[in-house]
Amino acid sequence: MKLFFPTTFDADAGGHFGPFGGQYVPEMLYPALQELNGAYNVARQDANFERELLDLFQHFSGRPTPLYFAENLTRQLGGARIFIKNEGLNHTGAHKINHALGQALLAKRMGKKRLIAETGAGQHGLATATVAAKFGFECTIFMGEVDIARQRPNVFWMEQLGAEVRSVEFGSRTLKDAVNAAIKDWIATVRDTHYLLGSCLGPHPFPSMNRDFQSIVGLEVREQLKEYGVDKPDYLVACVGGGSNAMGLFNAFLDDSAVHLIGVEAGGRGVTKVGEHAVRFGAGRPGVVEGYKSLFLQDSEGQIQPTHSVSAGLDYAGVGPQLAYMHSRGRLVMHYATDIEVLAALKTLIKTEGIIPALESAHAVAEAIKLAPTLSSSQSIVVNLSGRGDKDIFIVAEALGDEKWKAFLKRAAL
Ligand SMILES: *Cc1c(COP(=O)(O)O)cnc(C)c1O
Repeated sequence: MKLFFPTTFDADAGGHFGPFGGQYVPEMLYPALQELNGAYNVARQDANFERELLDLFQHFSGRPTPLYFAENLTRQLGGARIFIKNEGLNHTGAHKINHALGQALLAKRMGKKRLIAETGAGQHGLATATVAAKFGFECTIFMGEVDIARQRPNVFWMEQLGAEVRSVEFGSRTLKDAVNAAIKDWIATVRDTHYLLGSCLGPHPFPSMNRDFQSIVGLEVREQLKEYGVDKPDYLVACVGGGSNAMGLFNAFLDDSAVHLIGVEAGGRGVTKVGEHAVRFGAGRPGVVEGYKSLFLQDSEGQIQPTHSVSAGLDYAGVGPQLAYMHSRGRLVMHYATDIEVLAALKTLIKTEGIIPALESAHAVAEAIKLAPTLSSSQSIVVNLSGRGDKDIFIVAEALGDEKWKAFLKRAAL
């Protein structure tokens, strides 16, 4: 399996995807990005690096993850065959481990001693703390004070894994403040420290590098479809927060225009009101934030707007530059699913197939449920199930109004 391969949608040498991408960072971070880019360019051409990473994917994370024919759901909807790429069966429960392992391996090569990351709901912090424990890095996770208070289970595990979870107590005390704190730390510690970025965004080379580490997803799908007698899929569907699981599924198919690509954003409580959704395609405008140029939900002054989604992983005002570029070139269609549609899709998948999806992934499932009946039984859809749903039990039980869950929480609090 060749993990690293070119496509016609790659960035130029400066990390520009058409008008998007680039490296818009304080001068003091520029050498760090140059060092990272240099090390990455050597590593991606080194067969040993690729072998080590594939070995970790297999033996640490449990790859290949299954491609599963969702026969019951397909029959119920009566249209295209639906296949589920189950990234939820990875170690730590989602695709995030793919780029966390890739970056940890690279940081080790670069002689770094410490990993830092920022996290909102904690999933990225957990993946980072996991690889830090495995590789023996020191680890600091920056997290807003508000998020720490509401995400105790993830904070607990990060600490058990040996990470220091540093509370960020300025601004809104949430994700964007944690990003600022992490960047400030990196400027001061860059010699020993790698900033482990959690999606296909940020300054070059992160969008391209994380895409390459995630490409294993689509590469496996291409092989696994053959076992079902499918030469190529008609549609690939993935949810889009920053874009890492989507790029992971899409990358191996980018230059095959017969394969339609659909990304699904968080429609939240409705897309007409600011602060109620995270639909960057449509409501967002080009801007430069957090080191890269892309589409952002922003006001007329360029200030970032609040967002909402039932799923923490899609609740973000920006989006990866390569996806913005692909969309501008007509290679990618973007849709959204509302919180209500997402909960319905989650219940449907659980009942029909016995699979509990992450709330993020349930956005992609909601799209497949809309799409499949409009297609014929000779066509096929691959849905990226980016993660499993155990982590969402607090939110889902609350959203479904489960009284027994409430009673359980009250008892546990005594
Ligand atoms: C973090 C997360 C996402 C969103 O991130 P992308 O970079 O857009 O993939 C989606 N699904 C799950 C399960 C996640 O944990």
